[in-house]
Amino acid sequence: MMGLDLRSIILMSGIMGLLLSVVMLFLRLSYPKSIRGLGWWAAAPVVSFVSALLFAMRGQIPDAVSVVAANFLLLTGVAMFYFGARHFFGLVPAYLSRMGLILALLPVLAWYTLAEPSFTARVLMVSLLWAYLQLTLTLLIWRHGPEVFSTRFTVVVLVIHTSVLLLRFLSAWLPLSGESLLDPSRIQTLYIVMNALFTVALVVGLILMAGDRLREVFEHSSSHDSLTNALIRRTLISACEQELERCRRHGRSMSLLMLDIDHFKAVNDAHGHQMGDRVLVDFVARITPLLRSPDQLGRFGGEEFVVLLPETTQEDAMVVGERIRAAVALPVAGLPPISVSIGVASNRPDDAQIDALLGRADRALYKAKAEGRNRIAVI
Ligand code: GH3
Ligand code: MG
Ligand code: MG
Repeated sequence: MMGLDLRSIILMSGIMGLLLSVVMLFLRLSYPKSIRGLGWWAAAPVVSFVSALLFAMRGQIPDAVSVVAANFLLLTGVAMFYFGARHFFGLVPAYLSRMGLILALLPVLAWYTLAEPSFTARVLMVSLLWAYLQLTLTLLIWRHGPEVFSTRFTVVVLVIHTSVLLLRFLSAWLPLSGESLLDPSRIQTLYIVMNALFTVALVVGLILMAGDRLREVFEHSSSHDSLTNALIRRTLISACEQELERCRRHGRSMSLLMLDIDHFKAVNDAHGHQMGDRVLVDFVARITPLLRSPDQLGRFGGEEFVVLLPETTQEDAMVVGERIRAAVALPVAGLPPISVSIGVASNRPDDAQIDALLGRADRALYKAKAEGRNRIAVI
């Protein structure tokens, strides 16, 4: 290990990062635009690469560039991974606080490079700020990432890397960090090899996270209606079938609400199809908060929806239905007034198939329409 050429290691790590950046850029261009932050993640290794180039030219170019600018770019690269992660999880990026910290370090770094050169002082400052930035990135991914392999992998990589940075801080404190960046002391070699390894591993982890997100997006779009975001018919029916099976096994109750917007054709005719679409989106947005988490709402077609209410008796289902009917009847600014008719059906011991329950809900809905609409019915 002692014989490794540190300049080459620094360069190789930069180049590996650059290659992964090309992969990330490809993902950025080919993945849906709803997966955000990939541009930042593609750009971050490029910034790290430029910083690695400057570090590797230590002694051949002015220190102001190979120390001050290189460290600035190094920390900016870390911050860019963080900004990308904020975008990825749909959060406000918080550019100012991160870049403010890095910019505040610049004059101090310049002082210990040009006025009163101290490698130890620089290592202390840079490794501490780096560890801090990395720690906030770790916590962000830990808190917001789904519980899948890619999240765990990335978090483990970050935790180990952050520990190495803190070790480096301690070693400078003691001080054991050697005389300069390219001094092949043991701790220095260990630090640079670890750094190369973990930066590459971080980008691999982020690429895996982006892949998992893509799968999530596809799964969501294959089970949800693109206009209203309610479940599609097939997905809801299979959820109903599973629930009916559970009810049969455990002797529990379940109910279905079949909803159909009243005179929806007239809404389209009077206000246009686009306004009709907005009414449908608003309809689902208004109903969703009225449901409990195990309840599921699906679009059965056109302006017809079904709500699955697990562990709900007919009486309770009538209460939920009435709540929905009343909420839909309230006027909404900018949208034409609508009302909804609802058919309620609950499971019976002899229901062998979900069709039996759906059929009763449909007949109840027909009854609600026949009795004058904007009401709930059961048969
Ligand atoms: P009723 O009270 O009997 O239910 O009357 P209705 O006009 O709602 O009944 P009908 O089922 O005849 O009309 C449904 C209308 O919904 C017809 C169709 O143009 C419209 N529709 C279906 N899907 C969509 C959609 O995705 N967007 C819009 N804007 N309209 C849709
Ligand atoms: Mg209708
Ligand atoms: Mg209809």
